[in-house]
Amino acid sequence: MPGERDFRHIKRVVVKVGSSSIIYSTGRPNLSRMEQLVRQLADLHNQGKEVLLVTSGAIGVGQHRLGYTRRPKTMPEKQAAAAVGQGMLMHMYEKFFAEYGVVAGQILLTREDFSDRKRFLNARNTMYTLLRLGVVPVINENDTVAVEEIKLGDNDNLAALVATLVDAGLLILLSDIDGLYDADPRKNSRARLIAEVTEITPELEAISGGAGTSLGTGGIVTKLQAARIAMHSGIITVLAGSSEKDVVRRVVAGEPLGTVFWPCSRLENKKRWIAFSSTVHGRIYVDEGAARALVENGKSLLPSGIIRVEGSFEMGNTVSICDPSGKEIARGIVNYSSSEVERIKGLQTRDIARVLGHKDYDEVVHRNNLVLDI
Ligand code: GLU
Repeated sequence: MPGERDFRHIKRVVVKVGSSSIIYSTGRPNLSRMEQLVRQLADLHNQGKEVLLVTSGAIGVGQHRLGYTRRPKTMPEKQAAAAVGQGMLMHMYEKFFAEYGVVAGQILLTREDFSDRKRFLNARNTMYTLLRLGVVPVINENDTVAVEEIKLGDNDNLAALVATLVDAGLLILLSDIDGLYDADPRKNSRARLIAEVTEITPELEAISGGAGTSLGTGGIVTKLQAARIAMHSGIITVLAGSSEKDVVRRVVAGEPLGTVFWPCSRLENKKRWIAFSSTVHGRIYVDEGAARALVENGKSLLPSGIIRVEGSFEMGNTVSICDPSGKEIARGIVNYSSSEVERIKGLQTRDIARVLGHKDYDEVVHRNNLVLDI
């Protein structure tokens, strides 16, 4: 749904800034950049908008303070750097916001704060309360406690999840990359900026470097992942260069800066959580008929169409539903555990009680708890 590039009517805005945008290559903080950013956010706040800042830089600032010349390699060292750096970052933000009369509040999140539905709702309540009190939440991943397996790992995805969590209207990703290009602008002088994106196609992913390239890690790949989450959540995303003068104000005013990703759908809140925040605990493979029934006719998943189960899950967990070729066609919350599904797969619903000794549901995944559009 591309529309006018004028976002001044949008009330709730999440701005994400990357480490290299607020830290010099020496590892010292770029105070003027931080100050300019805060001034623009304070200005939005003064216009009556609700502003949330997702900021990276804790590990970068901390490692420099601790005397590392390169990024530490071990997890405890990175966590130590984050412990030092996060405090320093917050101190600087707090000072700058205070100069403009705005109160900032720190929120540190881990993946589990999104994947555990109760924690997710708690985090949302806290953020709504802060916004109601006129506070600007300053958010980062809780790097000092999050180890690799439970890490979101990059703040682009974090910012998109925060934007869906609070139902923001606009997500601005500020980066040293000033937009999405049709080729790597650092290697190809003819690379052209893509001003508008309405769908993240495989072609777009391919020209953007794909996962694992030098551009990929924390680069364009995670920005596309973030944009995808926002696009399915009814949130407009703008990727723009952090060094651009007055970038936040100009993006909000609709100046043609960077790349706009227009929303393509607006999943209801619970479905967004299923699609993007919850942890996938296993896979259920279905036959062609069941795949069609789910995708084309919006049906629930019944035991009869199930051909195979992978992974170990409990009732209430999120699973991925795949067609016979292994392609994920949906994600949903299961009514039966993996061992139960294993026993009832291929059977009619009337057989469930006989085989399991109980039947609480006809459906393995009810369509209300099923997301197709991912
Ligand atoms: N949370 C990390 C930090 O503050 C940054 C993650 C990222 O660069 O996306 O250092």
